[in-house]
Amino acid sequence: MERESAWKGYDEETLDKVDALASRYIDFISENKTERECVRTSIKLAEAAGYVPLAQAMAEGRALKPGDKVWADARGKALMLVQLGREPLAAGANILGAHVDSPRLDVKQNPLFEANELAFLDTHYYGGIKHYQWVTVPLALHGVVAKKDGSVVDVVVGEDAGDPVFCVTDLLIHLAQAQMGKKASEAVEGEALDILVGNRPLVVSGEPGEGGDGADNVADADAPKEAVKAFVLDVLKERLGMEEEDFLSAEIEMVPAGRARELGLDRSMVVGYGQDDRVCAYTSLEAQLAVANDVLQKSSVCILVDKEEIGSVGATGMTSRFFENTYAEVMALAGETGPRALARGLAACRMLSSDVSAGFDPAYASVFEAKNSAFLGHGLVFNKYTGARGKSGSNDARAEYVAHVRRVMDEAHVAFQTAELGRVDAGGGGTIAYIPAEYGMDVIDSGVAVLSMHAPWEVTSKADIYEARRGYEAFLRA
Ligand SMILES: [Zn+2]
Repeated sequence: MERESAWKGYDEETLDKVDALASRYIDFISENKTERECVRTSIKLAEAAGYVPLAQAMAEGRALKPGDKVWADARGKALMLVQLGREPLAAGANILGAHVDSPRLDVKQNPLFEANELAFLDTHYYGGIKHYQWVTVPLALHGVVAKKDGSVVDVVVGEDAGDPVFCVTDLLIHLAQAQMGKKASEAVEGEALDILVGNRPLVVSGEPGEGGDGADNVADADAPKEAVKAFVLDVLKERLGMEEEDFLSAEIEMVPAGRARELGLDRSMVVGYGQDDRVCAYTSLEAQLAVANDVLQKSSVCILVDKEEIGSVGATGMTSRFFENTYAEVMALAGETGPRALARGLAACRMLSSDVSAGFDPAYASVFEAKNSAFLGHGLVFNKYTGARGKSGSNDARAEYVAHVRRVMDEAHVAFQTAELGRVDAGGGGTIAYIPAEYGMDVIDSGVAVLSMHAPWEVTSKADIYEARRGYEAFLRA
């Protein structure tokens, strides 16, 4: 069963659409590099398409009817969009799900230190990374600082052309004989991922007259012991209005600095940070908003969740009750009550749980099984199952549901392919699919193939982004 490259089927008009979507997508992932930023921007786009806050609809006791659209967020880090269809929610909804958190270096709670007149921020990495990929890459600082007075300050340093950036240093090759002999997993230790943030000592000026000649001088008695760290603290205070103690209640993520770009002489691909899983999140969001002006048979739901990269845990991850509770609140406003309505509704849902797939990479062909691999440019990927060591931990979609999805994609002429995550026993991985499946709903893993997954800069094909976007819309309309 050979499937062809989607590129071969594109005429000039389609190619223009492929490029236009890629350009919107490049903007989105360049401007939204944390889960909070993704959720904030997604809410803006949803409101422009007619969505209202669920909290507002609840406060007004509004009766929701087919075609109405509401959004709800979980602590600004996860988002659920619901557009009511003609059928009741108890008959199930068509759901698009993806995650908006990505691997990165999180700044520790007590991070700032000075060593040999260099100042660093200590980090604890988030998600599965190869440590060695994160050294020497220009990094930007994104996050929030929550102060004791209740104010929350947004912080971004390293994205504007005039901004400084940051990096983790690496050992020079000339002295790396021992390091180069280590296993890749040990060559750069996780604890060594310290962000270089300063080298200039704070100079304390003497009062005129005190130092004798009245000129600026270093008053040794007054000079801070760790003068470089002191200078950094001065800058933090001046630029961000924060004290060292404020790191305790901050969430600061170090991410690759700079914009995503077109990749290749033929401009056929995109290279950028956080494409896992914003390539699925953005295309799911666009699909959900594309049907905003239609009243569909089934309700449409788009969920963008946090914490997938560390096990979907916490109040903003897929395992929280946020999704179920929000569904229940919307049902109540739609006048659908009764003790079993929620359970019936959730069990009757159909979901595309979208996350990136491992794209076949000829440089590492031995870990793939070619006829069950995802190829860049071959369209939206469906994984009947993921998991590791005998499908362990996977949601294995039932054949009847896979047939439904095939039918929907074929009727809409969406290019798609099926794949597994690599050769049997080469490794493995999981997604959020098994979590909503606990309600009894049909869920299948789908998504976009990526090269260099979880590296600072990941690669996707514009054709796959385009087919994903079309496939998601077709799924909502089915
Ligand atoms: Zn992912």
